[in-house]
Amino acid sequence: MPAVIMDGKSLGMKIRLNLKGKTELLQKKGITPCLAVILVGEDPASVSYVKSKGKALVEAGMKSRDIKLPFNTQEDELLSIINDLNNDKNTHGILVQMPLPKQINEENIINAINPDKDVDCFHPVSVGNMVIGRQGFLPCTPHGVILLLREYNIPLSGSNVVIVGRSNIVGKPLLNILIHKENNATVTLCHTGTRDLSYHTQRADILIVAAGKPSLIKPEIVKEGAVVIDVGINRVSDTSSPKGYRLCGDVDEAVIEKASFFSPVPGGVGPMTIAMLLQNVLEAAERSITSFK
Ligand code: NDP
Repeated sequence: MPAVIMDGKSLGMKIRLNLKGKTELLQKKGITPCLAVILVGEDPASVSYVKSKGKALVEAGMKSRDIKLPFNTQEDELLSIINDLNNDKNTHGILVQMPLPKQINEENIINAINPDKDVDCFHPVSVGNMVIGRQGFLPCTPHGVILLLREYNIPLSGSNVVIVGRSNIVGKPLLNILIHKENNATVTLCHTGTRDLSYHTQRADILIVAAGKPSLIKPEIVKEGAVVIDVGINRVSDTSSPKGYRLCGDVDEAVIEKASFFSPVPGGVGPMTIAMLLQNVLEAAERSITSFK
């Protein structure tokens, strides 16, 4: 029997509707959650991500403050803008769209954002809080994956989870969240240094793939009945599409026949990531009530 498709689009919309209600309550207290989104340059994928984030914020009744800077912006100019936003009580979250041009050191930029406004959860303080399970923002994509698993009642406690990809934004935070006592999973993290990827993937009750490699995961390296979460977003050429390309994940679609649950691309983790970003912006705005008193 083919896998149950995990509908991140519907769940994401449900969450966003709920956030809209909470935003309206906050507005009655005179606060409109506001996210400053900084884009340096005009990379088409980044422009498109920023646009969809802005649209989602406005739909939820929040403010999107778009700051578009030229490609040749220098690091000190960007740091100065971040400093102003850190001190602006009407800006609750700050997001700098990555990647940045070469003349700007991404680490210096991440370090400059006030952790209270770090809705992406990239700052070392936010990461530290997440690792030790202290209260704070959770990173958007990993949090979205966890909520998708919970929505479909996938048991995490005692499960063997295998993650493919160890980036700071997906693989590493997911590992840390999954091993918290409340989730209680046993996690293996694979990367290009992993000796035999299929040895690990075949043992996964839950397989989460974030490698950025189309069709990396074929049915023969997936356990029968596994839960498969595809985080990857890849553009592959497709002459039948007006755009000349289509989006696909890292998992071969034939895995649907072998998995018990499967999150598709598009429509799985992507919409959950946006919903979690909005949730963090709302949380930042709610917290600002106490911190700016
Ligand atoms: P990175 O390129 O930063 O990391 C990719 C990771 O995958 C690396 O750890 C790399 O290993 C590992 N990897 C690559 N190829 C293989 C392989 N053949 N075998 C084992 N491991 C491999 O990517 P991101 O984490 O930023 O993104 C991953 C994918 O997820 C991309 O397609 C991206 O577009 C998508 N994404 C989707 C989001 C969403 O909202 N759905 C959000 C963020 C990302 P090593 O470290 O050894 O190089």
